[in-house]
Amino acid sequence: MKIILMGPPGSGKGTQASHIAEMAGVYSVSSGDLFRDNLSRNTELGQLAQSFMEKGEYVPDDVTIDMVMNWIEEPQHSDGFVIDGFPRTLAQAEALDEKLSNTGGVDRVVFFDVPEDDLVQRLSGRMICSSCQRPFHKMFSPPQRENCCDYCGEALYQREDDKPDVVRNRLHVYIRETEPVIDYFEKSGNLRRIDASLGISEVREALKEVLR
Ligand SMILES: [Zn+2]
Repeated sequence: MKIILMGPPGSGKGTQASHIAEMAGVYSVSSGDLFRDNLSRNTELGQLAQSFMEKGEYVPDDVTIDMVMNWIEEPQHSDGFVIDGFPRTLAQAEALDEKLSNTGGVDRVVFFDVPEDDLVQRLSGRMICSSCQRPFHKMFSPPQRENCCDYCGEALYQREDDKPDVVRNRLHVYIRETEPVIDYFEKSGNLRRIDASLGISEVREALKEVLR
């Protein structure tokens, strides 16, 4: 089965990707994994991506597309796969469809739906110890004493990236970027939405249901 997982940052799709892949006996990969892998192996694509990142520019679609296509071409991925976080743009979606056109295309695209306020709460709860750098979370792993590290007692702080306004802005960018991709897969009839605001095991069940 060829499965695509889509959803905003904080929707939990990464956690589910490896589980679903294991169940289906296929491999999973995220776009972030592919970037890290190409950079660490210093591939031609990795070098190209780096040259844009060094200039503070976005890595163009065709670089990302090539990284994913190379991965799909590897023999161990020919029976199926789970891809997390790709495609993110319409050009990427079209390239993927074209690539898979002679093997029946994508089987399922699953969108992880979570209300924006829940996402902001999940993503902006992270606090880091200013001394030992250990992470805490206001909701999921709060320190015993407010704003104090459980390990060394030093003050916790919030990274700029984790502040609510920054998080909200990142979510809006995601929605704007992926709306055309969602429309595209909706038209093809492959898109399923699941309520990803629930707990990990409930989401897992919902995911199994739509992949059946
Ligand atoms: Zn500490």
